[in-house]
Amino acid sequence: MTTTAVRTLPAAQQPIWPDRDALEETVSRLRALPALVAPAECDRLRGLLAAAALGEGLLLQGGHCAETFGERSLQQVDGVVTTLRQMSEVLTRATGLPVAGVGRMAGQYAKPRSKPVETQDGLELPAYRGDIVNGLAFTPEDRTPDPRRMETAYRMSEATLQRITALGATSVSGLGAGDGSEFHVSHEALLLDYERALVRIDPVTGRRYAGSGHLLWIGERTRQLDGAHVDFAASIANPVAVKVGPTATADELLALTDLLDPDGEPGRLTFITRMGADRIEDVLPPLVQKVTASGHPVLWVCDPMHGNTRVTDSGVKSRRVADIAAETRSFVAVHRDVGSHPGGLHLEMTGGHVTECTGGTDRVSTEDLHRAYESACDPRLNRSQSIDLAFLAAERWGE
Ligand code: PEP
Ligand code: MN
Repeated sequence: MTTTAVRTLPAAQQPIWPDRDALEETVSRLRALPALVAPAECDRLRGLLAAAALGEGLLLQGGHCAETFGERSLQQVDGVVTTLRQMSEVLTRATGLPVAGVGRMAGQYAKPRSKPVETQDGLELPAYRGDIVNGLAFTPEDRTPDPRRMETAYRMSEATLQRITALGATSVSGLGAGDGSEFHVSHEALLLDYERALVRIDPVTGRRYAGSGHLLWIGERTRQLDGAHVDFAASIANPVAVKVGPTATADELLALTDLLDPDGEPGRLTFITRMGADRIEDVLPPLVQKVTASGHPVLWVCDPMHGNTRVTDSGVKSRRVADIAAETRSFVAVHRDVGSHPGGLHLEMTGGHVTECTGGTDRVSTEDLHRAYESACDPRLNRSQSIDLAFLAAERWGE
């Protein structure tokens, strides 16, 4: 497929960059920089995901909804990685299965939005699309998309990877470890100007790899079969995932397996289902049955966050730990019924003591939400809520 063909496909959720010269300049600078991750590391993760797809492992993927620029974000890396590792230990002990730890990290800077603009007091400005595109403050300066932010995202990702490596036993590079200390990074492949600028050819195999992260996923809003995002994911050799919401059809999923993993290689393709606690038991079984019947070795993972977002009476975006737990339980039950492997969890979480989701051991209430609501986007499980969920998952998976 030629680059020209790729560029003419419709690409949803892209910013309109006002400064085209700055865009071209930034893209050429990114093209000249080294990849953030190595092909061998991506292949190593693919191997871990293959084991999970075959029922001999689990994926635990988690981190912020949206990473942000600045020192504060770097200081949070330790908390997320440590919490994920503790959760992995809980799961491994209960199931006897190895758990592949993957952060929503070192590149999770671009956000899809339901509306392209936001209006406040009669002023209309572009929606916040993540720090890689524009700033969160509701001012014309912040909200104007600035392509130079893509280079900042690269530098922040680089610093984040250095932090992860510096956490001692944790090695970002999957090479050599094999003892549960491995850690890989992932993000939504949303901003195509950034993703395309970081694709590199592996000199050893001649294959194209996204250099921006080990595992990339396509979001619920950009998984159109004839869209540029699926086409991009099809063009790279990294393991890829697709978010699957309640309106997805079995035919769409089968078409995605054909486009993204025509050879049926275990570990290449993961479906991250995010149905909502009240819908999962109706909508998930036929999808899993049909994909399983096709013989495709997809890895199924549960995102119990995005189908369970609600807005409180005072207008705060939140989620209830009870709903997150319920969707997780149903996910395991549905897969056990169909005879497929419930392959893991995808979470929005942090190692800090935020109050963004309600419930859990520390009983965060709706009234508590304002106390430490720090997310730039969706509400995350705090540290103790994450550990709670790990114990619940351990119970279900361990049965
Ligand atoms: C996300 O993971 O933050 C997200 C936007 O998810 P989805 O594409 O499933 O809505
Ligand atoms: Mn989110």
